[in-house]
Amino acid sequence: MSRAIYPGSFDPITLGHVDVIQRAAQLFESVIVAVAKNEAKNPLFNVEERVAMVEDAVAGLPGVIVRSLDGLLADFARQEEVYVMIRGLRAVSDFEFEFQMALMNRHLEPKLETVFLTPNENYIFLSSRIVKEVGRLGGDVSAFLPPSAARFLKEKFATLSDPKKSG
Ligand code: ADP
Repeated sequence: MSRAIYPGSFDPITLGHVDVIQRAAQLFESVIVAVAKNEAKNPLFNVEERVAMVEDAVAGLPGVIVRSLDGLLADFARQEEVYVMIRGLRAVSDFEFEFQMALMNRHLEPKLETVFLTPNENYIFLSSRIVKEVGRLGGDVSAFLPPSAARFLKEKFATLSDPKKSG
């Protein structure tokens, strides 16, 4: 059975991530989207919110499952017995970091191979970071997000600007 893991922060999931997941789902019988807790990165959304957004975005995609990931990817791969890692490559700027990660993961688990997929050119310049920066300033970024993530983002910034709305 050909299986792969697509790890990331997904803070929040964008249409670029969804594009990569769709491509991976055509290549592999099963794809585990692993949402990394990544507290050191100070995410805007906690891991439960990020998992919920990813689950909504991939609902109906056959063979795609969503898990949260706390700790090393190499340990997760061994635990799941899945040794193919999917990563997205956009512009040249992704290359150096992704290359370091791929080689470090292979050092930690020699069986681990990284497969790079490139999204539709519409998403080459799309990142969670830019979506958050523009959304925070009140810009409409819904064209770049799955509907549920767009809702979560709007609510998050409404809550942050008016803390009474929380809870
Ligand atoms: P991380 O914090 O692990 O980089 P991200 O959620 O930012 O997590 O990204 C997860 C993976 O998806 C990375 O390989 C990243 O390069 C890729 N990715 C992010 N945005 C896009 C996009 N618009 N198109 C293709 N791949 C993307």
